[in-house]
Amino acid sequence: MDIPSCPECEKQMERQTRSTELRYEKFTATIELPGWYCACGESLHDGRDMTVSDRALNILKARANDLLEPEYITQIRKRLKLSQRKAGEILGGGPNAFHKYEKGDVLVSKAVSNLLRVLNENPKMLSVILPH
Ligand SMILES: [Zn+2]
Repeated sequence: MDIPSCPECEKQMERQTRSTELRYEKFTATIELPGWYCACGESLHDGRDMTVSDRALNILKARANDLLEPEYITQIRKRLKLSQRKAGEILGGGPNAFHKYEKGDVLVSKAVSNLLRVLNENPKMLSVILPH
């Protein structure tokens, strides 16, 4: 990849990872954000760099909205012995939904989040919604 020049001062930028503070409502997180950085303070981030901050921001949004965070979704799904595909089929969202929820690319709905909480408390209830 070509080294970009700074859009502000035209110096060569440096590929780095820097601690960046994210905020959503009252929730904050410090992430290590990759990107091209310049001594003048300017930075450039491509789509893959932004995935890091998008996923971290989704975790803050989950906290703010009282939704399960990705790691707990994975834990509960595994506890229920469901594949990601199966979980999306029976709990909603479609075959790829849980892959996206667990990566943090998509926020889980309140309904699915609460259903997972209920099933986590009482995994036997899964039999009620499994296809017979
Ligand atoms: Zn610069």
